[in-house]
Amino acid sequence: MISFETAFQKVLHFTLDWGEEKVSQLQANGRVLTEDIKADRDFPPFDRSTKDGIAINFSGIEKGLDIFKVEGILSAGMPQQSLSSDTHCFEIMTGAVLPNNADTVIMYEEIEIEAQLANISKRPKKGQNIHSKGSDEVKGAVLVEKGRIISPAIIGVLASVGKSAVRVKKLPTVCVVSTGNELVEISEQPLPHQIRKSNTFSLIAALKKVNIEPTQLHLADDRQLIENELQKALSNHDVLMLSGGVSKGKFDFIPDALEALGVEKIFHRIAQRPGKPFWFGITEKQKKVVFSFPGNPVSTFANYHVYFLPWLAKSLRIETTKQSVFLDETITPHPTLTLFLQVKTKFEKGCVIAKLIQGNGSGDLISLAKADGFIRIPAGETEFKKGSLFSFIPCT
Ligand code: AMP
Ligand code: MG
Repeated sequence: MISFETAFQKVLHFTLDWGEEKVSQLQANGRVLTEDIKADRDFPPFDRSTKDGIAINFSGIEKGLDIFKVEGILSAGMPQQSLSSDTHCFEIMTGAVLPNNADTVIMYEEIEIEAQLANISKRPKKGQNIHSKGSDEVKGAVLVEKGRIISPAIIGVLASVGKSAVRVKKLPTVCVVSTGNELVEISEQPLPHQIRKSNTFSLIAALKKVNIEPTQLHLADDRQLIENELQKALSNHDVLMLSGGVSKGKFDFIPDALEALGVEKIFHRIAQRPGKPFWFGITEKQKKVVFSFPGNPVSTFANYHVYFLPWLAKSLRIETTKQSVFLDETITPHPTLTLFLQVKTKFEKGCVIAKLIQGNGSGDLISLAKADGFIRIPAGETEFKKGSLFSFIPCT
């Protein structure tokens, strides 16, 4: 059995790279950009008015004028016009192109217009209320660097530079495998000795959140069938994510079947709770990775967040920030096991405070729904006083 720290380092050692692909701009949300996004024109592309009002040439003000003759009305979307004289003005709307020969915009609130004459009540500053051409970015400037995770704001930038498709990091193909004779489909009425599958659905939902659409497979506890089916699943996917069948039970055939298929065991069993029997392996040649989690729902769920997500982030070269929270009670660690305890967090006076959720062991799926993360309690003998700081692994 190895420590959590060693297991974590080993998992992170086997990161992979699945190359890149082109996806449509909206599909790119949440993906990792692999090209720089450049401005295809100046931003803004023309001097634009930032107010509804009038556009004038400031030389009129310098000559002492406070009344300007309205020459016309400019709306956003109209081509550029020319102001014929510094005694004239154009009415101009927000987003409209500033006319030639104009350099200042005065908002309606500071003028009165009567009989096509605009009367100014407040002396303007030269150049006010204009968003100048190229003042945000000039043509050719890098607006979004490669390596960034595409956010809704970046989707907007892609649209504004006319990028209907972008290059992003490819995600691994994942097969989520449930195992066990006791499991039935959610639409079925379980017999007294059966339960409905649930882990697989939590995993699928969690994977969808990171834009992975996994395939699903269920295997009965039959040694030969498991080997045959896992062989196919391995050849068709980059990652196998199993739950169940890795403990010491008489029907826990997964480790044996994986090794028979040539998957190299990196470790099996970690000094942690929940999730101790986690089996992790790779095939060096085909670059496949197998996360084989124990079947108890809390074990699977904790291990997915503790190991798989950081592994995925590192594989995609995503920078992650470690989070920590203050626990609102004194806690005694386990002498030899790293504990992952379910908590619910809240903000209080600028700090994140965690409250333990009392679960009924790693089979207690229902308590998971109350938690928003796990805290990691290192093994040891000395109790941690109320207010101690612990690493936080979010799971919402
Ligand atoms: P195992 O790791 O196969 O010994 O399973 C441990 C416990 O988790 C057993 O009570 C199983 O019934 C349960 N279990 C295994 N797989 C699933 C699953 N996909 N959904 C819900 N419970 C499961
Ligand atoms: Mg089982």
